[in-house]
Amino acid sequence: MEKKVILVTGGAGFLGSHLCEKLLSLGHQVLCLDNFFTGRRENVSHLIQHPDFELVRHDVTEPIRLEVDQIYNLACPASPRHYQQNPIKTIKTSVMGAINVLGLAKRIGARVFQASTSEVYGDPIIHPQPESYWGNVNPVGQRSCYDEGKRVAETLFFDYHRQNGVDIRVARIFNTYGPRMQAGDGRVVSNFIVQALRGEDLTIYGDGTQTRSFCYVDDLVEGFVRLMNSEGLTGPVNLGNPQEFTMLELAEQVLAEVGGRSRLVHLPLPADDPRQRRPDITLAKEKLAWQPQVPLQEGLVRTVRHFKHVL
Ligand code: NAD
Ligand code: UDP
Repeated sequence: MEKKVILVTGGAGFLGSHLCEKLLSLGHQVLCLDNFFTGRRENVSHLIQHPDFELVRHDVTEPIRLEVDQIYNLACPASPRHYQQNPIKTIKTSVMGAINVLGLAKRIGARVFQASTSEVYGDPIIHPQPESYWGNVNPVGQRSCYDEGKRVAETLFFDYHRQNGVDIRVARIFNTYGPRMQAGDGRVVSNFIVQALRGEDLTIYGDGTQTRSFCYVDDLVEGFVRLMNSEGLTGPVNLGNPQEFTMLELAEQVLAEVGGRSRLVHLPLPADDPRQRRPDITLAKEKLAWQPQVPLQEGLVRTVRHFKHVL
């Protein structure tokens, strides 16, 4: 593969740091840009010495002037706990961030990838969710700053593509987990593992019958690179693991892995919490020859090992 200069916004975050690693391993030069809201220098500290890696503090709501071949736009807090801390900033990051990376891509002729989300489907009525589904999103709820921000970002990507011929790739990412998730980010996989390791009770929100489909981070990053380097496919393309679990099943799997004496306690369900979520990945299978390889049990083993280390 030809050596490219690649910009990763949000590159010091959970997914971004794994992507930077992958791109360096493929022989590319990586420019990692982050405002360190939820990302940390430690996530990429092992890459700092790499001659092809550069880390820059920058907020994507400000314009960007660089010369690169490809742009992966990941900058945006992903956990409800983080994106609801400052909802107005979350929308600005999604919308102004998209305008700024698209403006850059337009000016320099770079290909640009957007990390969109299954949240564009909201609380989905169609199950599993194909890319053709328009979603069921509350425009004025607590999750709207994230969901609607990401929806507008998708719109901007397709308008820059139609109006200015910008070369775009849009991935709709479903719940992803793995090493470098933050212990305190409030997401279900990190919460359950940390609680189990500390011998605390596992907090099930609602009755625990709501479902999610969990993708291991290495599988997802492989999907990113395949989509970015595919020809003639703008997306949106669902990237996620179609194996679906209830939160009760997830809790049982975590307890089976960690052991200990934790029990399950029920807490109120957050507002607008989606009932069910599972990607239809037919498109990714057909066009990218991609599907997840790491089953939940194996991914949990690797993630538990990470949390044992950081705790
Ligand atoms: P994360 O919070 O670990 O990473 C986001 C990164 O973006 C952090 O490093 C943060 O500091 C940075 N950032 C936030 N606002 C910024 C700004 N204004 N300017 C510059 N940098 C900024 O989350 P993640 O799980 O790594 O998610 C990465 C991307 O993938 C996000 O866009 C998220 O919406 C998307 N996504 C993630 C998941 C998932 O399950 N992890 C699912 C769907 C979509
Ligand atoms: N959840 C839970 N206990 C927790 C954290 C989350 O039962 O300690 C539930 C949450 O209500 C949701 C699911 O797990 O139904 C996934 O939550 P997460 O925040 O990880 O992701 P998202 O809702 O954004 O898909």
